[in-house]
Amino acid sequence: MKNPASSLIRSILGVLAGAGLLFGVATTSLADGHESEANGHTVLITGANRGLGLEFARQYAADGWTVIGTARRPAGAEELAALDVEVMQLDVTDRESIAALAAALDGRAIDMLINNAGIFPRVSEIDNIDADAYLQTLTVNTLGPVLVTQAVMPNLRAGELKQVINITSGLASIERNSGGFYGYRESKAALNMFTSTLAAELGEDGFICLALHPGWVRTDMGGANANLSPEESVSGMSSVIDGLTAEHNGRYFGYDGSEVAW
Ligand code: NAP
Repeated sequence: MKNPASSLIRSILGVLAGAGLLFGVATTSLADGHESEANGHTVLITGANRGLGLEFARQYAADGWTVIGTARRPAGAEELAALDVEVMQLDVTDRESIAALAAALDGRAIDMLINNAGIFPRVSEIDNIDADAYLQTLTVNTLGPVLVTQAVMPNLRAGELKQVINITSGLASIERNSGGFYGYRESKAALNMFTSTLAAELGEDGFICLALHPGWVRTDMGGANANLSPEESVSGMSSVIDGLTAEHNGRYFGYDGSEVAW
């Protein structure tokens, strides 16, 4: 799944651009003073103010993408705002917020949607399941990506790449299930099924829809003991995304390009 050729080409282009050897290629200035060639593609990332979403925004902006990063509270999204990205408000549980985002994006082509926003309650005993918390997990992790995808479907249809990347989890795998994490597992397994169903509907139209597991990552969610940095996880995931072709539509991969058992 990794696409070394594409990464190599990007590295070479980066070196050439850095050395001023690429003429006639539009460049965008980054907040850190570096420049990268604009590649003409646009990515929309939910939950981009921290964690993996922020790292996706950082890496795609550095690669010359037009990045639209969403945050529930844009006023508090300083790290995101410091990047060369557009910051837009989005709470994936709030239908008015989703509609306002869609209205703000009306008429714009979006090449890739990364449904990244999520929550991770830790409930490991049946006796501790709380109905409201359980529903909230499904609302954020499952219904949120479904409604966001639906809302920006005209933008994705107008995009060149037509990629929907749903950030799932290895904990969604029924085959690998070792118990615990009620609610979270179900929410991500349902997200996987949404990915598969969307892929079946839209594959003929050139869409590539993917369930992508980031690994265990040192974010607020993953905690300090996780084995991957956000940089490592997102570099791996973007290599997987770089290598996507129609044959990958509707599949479930890890950040390292390995296929995950449903
Ligand atoms: P994180 O550090 O906790 O960040 C979660 C992000 O989601 C934040 O930007 C948060 O915004 C946003 N969010 C939460 N509820 C939201 C809502 N209702 N509307 C919009 N945004 C909302 O988590 P992360 O580790 O970066 O996780 C990103 C994704 O990877 C999640 O889908 C997670 O399930 C998945 N994942 C992570 C790991 C891991 O080890 N870290 C492993 C497997 C899967 P606020 O700042 O406003 O709360």
